[in-house]
This record gives sequence, structure tokens and C-alpha cells, in this order.
Amino acid sequence: MKKLIQLFRSTQATKRPSVLSHPDKASNTMAKNYSTTRVRAVLRQEWRATILVVSVTISIALGAVSCSGGINLFDTGTDAQLGKQMDEQIRQNPKEYPILNNPAVKQYVQNMINDIIRSEHVQYRGTFPYQAEVIADDKTINAFCTPGGYIYVYTGLMKAVDNEATLAGVLGHEIAHAERRHGTSRMTKAYGLQMILSVALGQNPSQLATIGANLFSGLALLKNSRLDEDDADNYSFKYLQGTKWYPGSIKFFFEKVGGQRGQGDGIGTTVERLLSSHPLPQDRIDATNKRIEEAKLPPPNESNLHGSAYQQFKRTLP
Ligand SMILES: [Zn+2]
Repeated sequence: MKKLIQLFRSTQATKRPSVLSHPDKASNTMAKNYSTTRVRAVLRQEWRATILVVSVTISIALGAVSCSGGINLFDTGTDAQLGKQMDEQIRQNPKEYPILNNPAVKQYVQNMINDIIRSEHVQYRGTFPYQAEVIADDKTINAFCTPGGYIYVYTGLMKAVDNEATLAGVLGHEIAHAERRHGTSRMTKAYGLQMILSVALGQNPSQLATIGANLFSGLALLKNSRLDEDDADNYSFKYLQGTKWYPGSIKFFFEKVGGQRGQGDGIGTTVERLLSSHPLPQDRIDATNKRIEEAKLPPPNESNLHGSAYQQFKRTLP
């Protein structure tokens, strides 16, 4: 994933978040007339009103409450835009991200995603594309999702899991990262309200470059906090409750990667890498078991694991 970080860094000069870079002329003039002291005073005394002005002029939504309970200063359009730009970057780097050229396999994953996002708990199905892509890399047991819902699944993950429900659990988890807007929530936390506002008011234009750089550093995509991971597991459970798949199935993925940890056969390294972005499987197995208990779910069986159909599908993978 370090390579992804480098990838986005190397493109920062040409790619800028236009949502932050085109305040209208009136607001620019207004901002320039403000002294720094004046801005600080406004921020203190007219905090809410100022934020509203800024949010209108630069399309940052006020007070969108993020998944982890914090504030998200970016609007959903920014998530979608970021995702689109990351998706383009990924497609331009087939060496690192070799896209599998197999429409049937891609459609299989897309159909699963389409089923999951029908959940009543998914609110951005009309806003985010929730688009599947498969990366032909058997050594990487992973999946990821950009802000705004571009979902990538590695063939390594598809081959490692034993049934469709487990893959659905992982897809639900990735969808939740986009749905719960973990990336832009973390960006809000990382930059802080005041800095974003000072950029918006034209007080500190050089900070815009910093934000632009970090948007593409992979920050939004890769470093999910433990809280975000737990939140995504929780929502994966909720999404799957309305589907044909066993809702607690993400735990089979943790059991799988936990069991393969440190085997020294090459898989170990991949799993270690995965665990550094998706930490502590035992905690997450325990948390999932608690959710299963609370929902009084009976043990899974073939009718909600879809193991044999999945084994057939696996044979079609290159
Ligand atoms: Zn995650």
C-alpha cells in the first residue's frame, strides 16, 4: 500500500480537489478584506454563521455527522469526486493494480454488491457508484474501497475464502467504509476545522496545496482506525441481514487470515500487510460473535453460506 501512497503523491501536482479550489469571486473579495484577527474573531463569535457562508461558497456541507461520531466537513460530492480520481489513478497503474480482464467475474462481484446495497441501511446508493473491479493478484488477500464507493477485490481474496457469504461479508465491510464516509471524516480530523476554514476564506492559500497533496497520499483510503474498522464490521452485519447471506460471515474471513498468519509460505507476508490495515482479527471475531448472539442468529448452514455454488464459481477464476 506504500506504493499507492507514492502513486497519489506523484500525481498531486496535477490533481487538485476542485471543490476546495473554486470559491466564488465575491467570497474571495470578502475574505481578502478580513484581517487574520478579524477571521479569528468571526470564527469565535459567529462560528456557525461563518461556516454556513463558507459551506455555500465552496460546497462544503456543515455538520455532516460521520460514522465515528465526529464532524465531516466535506460533502458527499467530494467523496464521489475523490473516488473517481483515485479510480483513474489506479487504472493508470496496471503494474501495481493489474485489472482482471474477465467480464463474468467482475459481474459476479458487481451482482453481489448490488444485492448488498439494497439494504435499508445504505443511504448513498444513488450518490456513489458502488462499482466493482477485480485485481488479478493471487498473492494479496484483500479488498479495498475508495471514498465514494469504488470497490476493488483481489483474486487472492476470492480464492482464499470458502463461500460466497464470506466474500459478501468483506464486500459489506468495504461498502461501509464508503457509506460511513470514514475517509473524509478522517481528513476533517487530520486538518482541523480552523485550517479548512482559513483555506476557504483565502487566508492561507498554501495550505490548499498541502490538503491537495494529502488527499492523494492515500490517507483517506488506507489508514482506517480501529474504530472505523469496528464500525465497518458492524455495518457489514447490518447490510447482510437483508440478504441471502449469513450476516456474521465476515468472521470467517478473520478466522482465515488469522489462521494463515506467519506460516512462512509467502501468504504470511501478505496477511501481515493486510492486518496492518485491518488490525486485530481476534477482537473482531469476538465483536462479530457478540453481534450474532444479540441478533439471536442460528448457526450458519449451506443455505446462507452458499459454499458449493461459490466453489463452482472459484473454478472459473483464472
Ligand atoms: Zn476496513
